[in-house]
Amino acid sequence: MSAHLRVLVIGAGIGGLALAQGLHRAGIDVTVCERDPAPTGRLQGYRLRLNQDGLDALDRLLPPGLARLIWDTSSSPSRSGYRHGTPSGAERNVAVNRLTLRQILLHGLGDVVEFGRDCTGYQACPDGTVTATFADGSQRTADVLVAADGVNSVVRRHYLPHAQVMDTGVRIMYGRFPLTRETAELVPDEWFQLYAPLFGPDHQHIGIAPVHARCANPDLPTGLTLTDTADYVMCLFAARTELLPPDDELRTGTGRWLRDLTADLARAWQPAAADLLARAETGTFFPIFMRSSVPLEPWPTTSVTLLGDAIHAMSPAVGVGANTALRDADLLTVKLTEAESGADLITAIREYETTMIDYGFDAVRTSAKYGAIRMGQTPLPG
Ligand SMILES: Cc1cc2nc3c(=O)[nH]c(=O)nc-3n(C[C@H](O)[C@H](O)[C@H](O)COP(=O)(O)OP(=O)(O)OC[C@H]3O[C@@H](n4cnc5c(N)ncnc54)[C@H](O)[C@@H]3O)c2cc1C
Repeated sequence: MSAHLRVLVIGAGIGGLALAQGLHRAGIDVTVCERDPAPTGRLQGYRLRLNQDGLDALDRLLPPGLARLIWDTSSSPSRSGYRHGTPSGAERNVAVNRLTLRQILLHGLGDVVEFGRDCTGYQACPDGTVTATFADGSQRTADVLVAADGVNSVVRRHYLPHAQVMDTGVRIMYGRFPLTRETAELVPDEWFQLYAPLFGPDHQHIGIAPVHARCANPDLPTGLTLTDTADYVMCLFAARTELLPPDDELRTGTGRWLRDLTADLARAWQPAAADLLARAETGTFFPIFMRSSVPLEPWPTTSVTLLGDAIHAMSPAVGVGANTALRDADLLTVKLTEAESGADLITAIREYETTMIDYGFDAVRTSAKYGAIRMGQTPLPG
């Protein structure tokens, strides 16, 4: 190991970026390698519910100005107007716009995050370091490699080949339309909340979520631009695969086709929500093939570790996947900071993994349980 810890994070999603913010703030040498060519390169979803765990983690990980901005861009939807989150208030469940959160998490990490870096594998070196390899043939060596590369994690497949990710049998199609004075009239009062869940026959599920995406603070830090700040209504339709066309058709279908398909299915049992689904802008509609990690036993600790969906992907039934990734980032920051200050590195990572495995797989099990009740998700094995 070098005199100062070098940490290489694979994946600039919510968890990887939050970790990078925490390590950067602690003065630890961190690099994040992200496969996407740019931060806005692909549809990643729309609104996220952040709970106490996620908000507390962000409060600790981010410099105060950015932590404040999380509150200024979060909201609790209400028919009567904006209710932005407040750090001191009782509002510990808020909605944030994914892209806005990502843009805030990226701020100040210009030299830290490298885009267009597709990790293809890694090698553990005899001196205890780890060398990651990339699709362009390049390599990078660090003292710790953190897999934050999501549910399809390349690092996990090399490191824990026995770890399983199962198909839950549920498909989610979702999109959004602008929330204007006119469209707000179409959303019944009782759906004007953080997330209105509607349950239909055969575990069909519709979710409606108005999102106030505006930033309450006009004075953004220099260099930060938020590009997705118009209010909208997120609408999703979930059903078991048996009720839907084959996956290949969902994968290749246009946004318009997906939107019309779901609006038609919804119309049979929830005509008012079907009208909202039918309003979704076709370019915003896309499918998600819902998967879940299968909890596994602890593994021997090394200088390769994992966080977020890379190790504990879960059903969105409870809405805690991102919150759990943020909790991982917070805990791993604490442990790697201890290692930087002289504590044994492997012991520090083991302490992180022992705790993370516990709460992470607990969240997977709870999400699977409610996913089965609410969406007919296939239960976890055993
Ligand atoms: C419909 C839906 C709704 C959800 N709602 C909520 C919610 O309300 N609240 C909540 O807490 N959670 C929610 N979740 C879960 C949440 O989205 C995830 O748990 C969270 O995004 C995980 O973050 P992550 O950083 O671990 O992974 P990701 O956000 O998936 O990031 C992984 C990153 O790694 C990159 N990457 C992948 N492979 C490579 C590679 N080979 N090399 C380099 N980079 C790579 C990817 O491009 C990506 O940027 C929801 C999920 C879904 C599907």
